[in-house]
Amino acid sequence: MATDQQALDNSAMNELHWLIDMVQTIEVGLVVLDRDYNIQLWNGFMENHSGVSPNSIKGKNLFEQFEYLPAKWLKQKMESVYLLQNRAFISWEQRPFIFEFKNYRPITGRADFMYQNVTLLPLSSLTGEITHISMIVYDVTDVAINKLQLKSANERLEYLSQIDGLTQLYNRRYWEICLQREFDRYARYGNETSLVMLDIDHFKAINDTYGHQAGDRVIQNVSHIINKSLRETDCAGRYGGEEFGVILANTPAANALFFAERLRKKIEQSEIMYEEQLIKVTISLGICDIKADMTDCDIWLAQADQALYQAKEAGRNCSITQE
Ligand code: GH3
Ligand code: MG
Ligand code: MG
Repeated sequence: MATDQQALDNSAMNELHWLIDMVQTIEVGLVVLDRDYNIQLWNGFMENHSGVSPNSIKGKNLFEQFEYLPAKWLKQKMESVYLLQNRAFISWEQRPFIFEFKNYRPITGRADFMYQNVTLLPLSSLTGEITHISMIVYDVTDVAINKLQLKSANERLEYLSQIDGLTQLYNRRYWEICLQREFDRYARYGNETSLVMLDIDHFKAINDTYGHQAGDRVIQNVSHIINKSLRETDCAGRYGGEEFGVILANTPAANALFFAERLRKKIEQSEIMYEEQLIKVTISLGICDIKADMTDCDIWLAQADQALYQAKEAGRNCSITQE
């Protein structure tokens, strides 16, 4: 009979032994803290990544051992675990890491620290009272890096979908969205807003005389000057081949004319060297502010275009406001 009891004891001992072995070797950090944040258990994962052995840290205060820990914040989380007798989670998205562990993984070599998710688990004693807390530390570097890379790729894609490759100004599609947005803002708040449409004069002749690549350089130069002339709230886009639109928020037509004339002169004065040939161009501009009787955005655009057409008719290299 004694052998049955012995077998039972043996099996329980084995189980305990295995459990301890697993706790030590598992690829997850395990820490047990008492009510005063003194470390009662520190597994192999924690030892490997911190360089601190369980023997040397046992019984010591977590926050004294690792002064970089966000003590106030972390204690608050832990106290709520005691109070609610419920687990709490800390995600890498909230705080990239709790413990300052280096990242050694070759695949995700781009991260120099280990991203972590941490679970705080209440541990009850044999009497059922919550006396300790366990911290379970997961290495989520791979997941975090993938997600961050995806996010930055998406941001890059979004940027590329809005930008014209040749000029780095907004492309027509996105610029039209901005135009609609400004029109809607006017409808709501009534802020004076102006639109300047501009087009390079006799551009076909530039292409014919100097070649298409020289033409591209001219378009880039004009775009660069437009871009440098903008305020933070202005929005410039490439509307067509060598035609551009600039939306000037909070700007009455008189001020937009001032902007247009300054831009026109800057472009008139600029010179482009292309294969040892000096190229000069001028632009014509049409200006129109939003009027209360405009029922939609297309009318606004059409009237600015009409003003541009008049500037061409008037001999080019000038600005005309649509009254
Ligand atoms: P106007 O003074 O009346 O504006 O005359 P224009 O010659 O500039 O008029 P038009 O708009 O008819 O000609 C524009 C030309 O621009 C036609 C097209 O071949 C050329 N073009 C359009 N896009 C590009 C581009 O990306 N690069 C180059 N090099 N040329 C372009
Ligand atoms: Mg033109
Ligand atoms: Mg044109």
